[in-house]
Amino acid sequence: MDDYDPSSMDAQIAQQHILHSINPITQTESVPIREALNRVVAENIRSTINVPSHTNSAMDGYAIRGIDIPSTETKQLKLVGTAWAGRPYYGAVNDNQCVRIMTGAAMPENTDTVVMQEHVRISNDLITIDSKQQANQNVRQAGEDIAEGDLVFTPGKLLNPSNIGLIASLGIGEIKVVRKLRAAFFSTGDELVSIGTPLEVGQIYDSNRYTLWSMLTRIGVEINDLGVVRDTPEAVEAAFLEASENADIVITSGGVSVGDADFVKETLEKLGQVNFWKVAMKPGRPLAFGKVKDAYFFGLPGNPVSVMVTFYIFVQAAIEKMMGHEPKPHIQIQATSNSELRKRPGRVEYQRGTYHLNENNQYVVVKTGEQGSGILRSMSDANCFIFLPMESSGISKGDKVEIWPFDSFV
Ligand code: AMP
Ligand code: MG
Repeated sequence: MDDYDPSSMDAQIAQQHILHSINPITQTESVPIREALNRVVAENIRSTINVPSHTNSAMDGYAIRGIDIPSTETKQLKLVGTAWAGRPYYGAVNDNQCVRIMTGAAMPENTDTVVMQEHVRISNDLITIDSKQQANQNVRQAGEDIAEGDLVFTPGKLLNPSNIGLIASLGIGEIKVVRKLRAAFFSTGDELVSIGTPLEVGQIYDSNRYTLWSMLTRIGVEINDLGVVRDTPEAVEAAFLEASENADIVITSGGVSVGDADFVKETLEKLGQVNFWKVAMKPGRPLAFGKVKDAYFFGLPGNPVSVMVTFYIFVQAAIEKMMGHEPKPHIQIQATSNSELRKRPGRVEYQRGTYHLNENNQYVVVKTGEQGSGILRSMSDANCFIFLPMESSGISKGDKVEIWPFDSFV
């Protein structure tokens, strides 16, 4: 059956409406830097030291004075000591002298140049250098990476592993970040059974809470899982009240399509302000968005693929905005479709596929079997969405399509 509906909401407009309604959370907390991975910086982080703190050698070799480099031929310098990383040579280096130096060792007084060990000849305590050396080579200057007082990160920065290392290199052990977001979710449906209970006729296992748990966990959201809620007004109202108590965001799945939305709608009319939309997209047509008490509310459709698509397209960007950093753009790549893809104009579609780079260095994508919104396998086997725009009326084998690799959704 065609579910095209001319009164549908444009997916992009729905996304803009959602983002426009969302305010970032303002509470912060101080955490040890190991807990700051994937968190958002909430203060100016400045360096109180030079990095590196001392001018040091970038190579294993010999520390010399640049003025000792001969202009022609070669020159002999006398070896007077050794500088190790963490164990400096404290003496001064005079004319025609040198110090054996290891990578990372502080440059001895008077020296400014390192000659790589491969470029010298050694006999006893004399080394021979040639005129090809350059003054100041192979030396890392104090403050070269970061100078004392430099601003390193500003509020809004989402921290990745290299950022954490950089903060550690400044000797900073604790920083202020935006507090973790708290999400509460539950599934609705009389047909849903929890793992461990055998299925009776018409029952299915609740998978949506597990995909939601996974998608939220990997972006660092704290979770309150309220389980399966039966399709009665009382149960739904109680669940909404509990969910909105402590959460920044409440997410439900199921119960927002025309058939069974009524009591969810009824409950939400009592507790909050919520819009029920028919979004011109597949999967993921029914969607509810608004507020329940102080929490933002997303009512996602029940079908397992729809839950994931609407989460990635709507919820994740909203969470990023609440956490105070810019939504990450999804990587979009042109690929050749090796599958025929059926589609009706009038809605955008997020079909699922696997892509790879072929022997001619071109991206090729094939769809992952049947594309029904209840077939989670089509998502599980896939490594990308195949995005088909509103006006598309299907794709023939060999046509170009736009793909969105899942890697960019993390
Ligand atoms: P609904 O939007 O409640 O009409 O649900 C649409 C379809 O998704 C139905 O086939 C449901 O059985 C299925 N569904 C709803 N919730 C879940 C869930 N938590 N896990 C797996 N499938 C679900
Ligand atoms: Mg239902």
